[in-house]
Amino acid sequence: MKPGPVALRELQAPLLAWYRAVQRDLPWRRTRDPYRIWISEAMLQQTRVEAVIGHYERFVARFPSVQALAEADTQAVLEAWSGLGYYRRARALHATAQELVARHLGVFPQRAAELVQLHGIGPYTAGAVASIAFDAPDALVDGNVERVFARWLGWELPRASPELKRRSWQLADELVPAAGAGEWNQALMELGAVVCTPRKPRCLACPVAAWCTAHRTGRAEALPLERAKPATLEVELLVHVVREGGQYLLVKRPEQGRMAGLLEFPSIETAPGEVLWPRALQAEFATGDELARVRHAITRHRIHARVVEARLLRPVVAGELADARGARWVYSSPERLGQLALTGMARKLCALLH
Ligand code: SF4
Repeated sequence: MKPGPVALRELQAPLLAWYRAVQRDLPWRRTRDPYRIWISEAMLQQTRVEAVIGHYERFVARFPSVQALAEADTQAVLEAWSGLGYYRRARALHATAQELVARHLGVFPQRAAELVQLHGIGPYTAGAVASIAFDAPDALVDGNVERVFARWLGWELPRASPELKRRSWQLADELVPAAGAGEWNQALMELGAVVCTPRKPRCLACPVAAWCTAHRTGRAEALPLERAKPATLEVELLVHVVREGGQYLLVKRPEQGRMAGLLEFPSIETAPGEVLWPRALQAEFATGDELARVRHAITRHRIHARVVEARLLRPVVAGELADARGARWVYSSPERLGQLALTGMARKLCALLH
C-alpha cells in the first residue's frame, strides 16, 4: 500500500530529530528577521548555498533593512546583486521593498496569504518568510520538496510539472504542523538539499527511508522524471571592445526584456538576428583585430561571440548619447568594471581582457 499523509505524519518526528542534529549553520538561520530571511530566499532561488553566503552578508550589510533597500538607487541594488545573475530578481526585490514601505510602513505581514499579495513574492517565498520568521502554520514547496515528495509517494511525474506542483502543495498543506512550521519546512528542504539529492540520493543515510516508496521500489534516482529538453538555439554575436584612454565603452540594455538594464560591450547579433540583441546600434564602428572567441549559454541559447577591437567612427560623449531605444553609453575605468551590473557574458569578457 502506498503511504498517504496519515502514514507520512509518522516520519515527522524522525525527520525533525535528524534536522536538529545535522542542520548546516547558515547566516540566515541565525535570525528571525523577516527581511533577512526574505533576502536569503530570493538569493537561494536557482543559486547554490555556498555561492549565496558571501553575497548575502554583503547585501544585508549594505542594505540592513527593508527601508534602506526601498530608498536605494536601482543601480546600487543591481551592483550589490552583481555576480548572482538573474537580475530580474534584484529588480523585483527592490520594487517589493518599496511596496512594503508604501503599503505596510515597512512591516512584513505575518501570513503567507497576505505576503503573496505583494508583487514579487510568490507562494514559496511567502511560505518561507511566514513560517521561518513568524512560525505561522504555512506550507512551502520548492524543487527540493517536490523531489522529496515524489520519492516518498512514488509519483511517476516529470520534474516541475504542473501536476507535481499541485500534488506537492496539497501534501505540504496537509503535513505542515500547527506549531513549528518553520522548522518542519526547513527540515524538508534540508533533506532534499543534502540527502535526497537529484543525483545519487543517499538513501542509506536517510532518516525516513522506511517510509519511502521510491527507495523500496528502486526508483529513487529516477524520480521525479526528467523533462524533455527544449531545442537549443545557436546565436552568433560580434562584440566590440572600444578602449580610449584606459577606459571601456559599455552600453546599457533596454529596461525591458532579457538582461534588462544591465551593461555590456556594444554587440551586434549576426545570426539568427534579433533574438537576444534585438536593437540596431546607432553608433558606427571601425573594427580591428580579433581579441577572442567566447562561448556563453543563456537558458536554451548557445552564444558564439567573436570579440574584436573597435573604434567609433564619430565621437561619443559619456552618458549623453541615447539611441532610438533609450540605451545609453557609459564610460568606465577598468577597475570599476567588475563592480558594475554586467551581463554574464560581459563579466566573462572582463576576465579575459585583464
Ligand atoms: S530514502 Fe532515498 S529517495 Fe527516499 S527520501 Fe530518503 S534519500 Fe530520498
